[in-house]
Amino acid sequence: MTMKVSATKDTCAVSSLCVYRVPEVFDQDEEGAVEVIDPAPPAGLHDDVRSAARGCPTRSIHVE
Ligand code: SF4
Repeated sequence: MTMKVSATKDTCAVSSLCVYRVPEVFDQDEEGAVEVIDPAPPAGLHDDVRSAARGCPTRSIHVE
């Protein structure tokens, strides 16, 4: 199954939690706000991405 990852910069609290957890998928822009660098991560990363989405304090990560 294909995973689609997106993130809402406007609500991102710049906690870097997701970047720390899954650096293959999440990065930060110049202001520190979340940036999805791999919107269709491989299966091996799906659990980590879901966990990062659950752990986001502002629910800014969306997974389909
Ligand atoms: S975990 Fe959430 S609030 Fe923290 S940097 Fe990632 S998207 Fe932003």
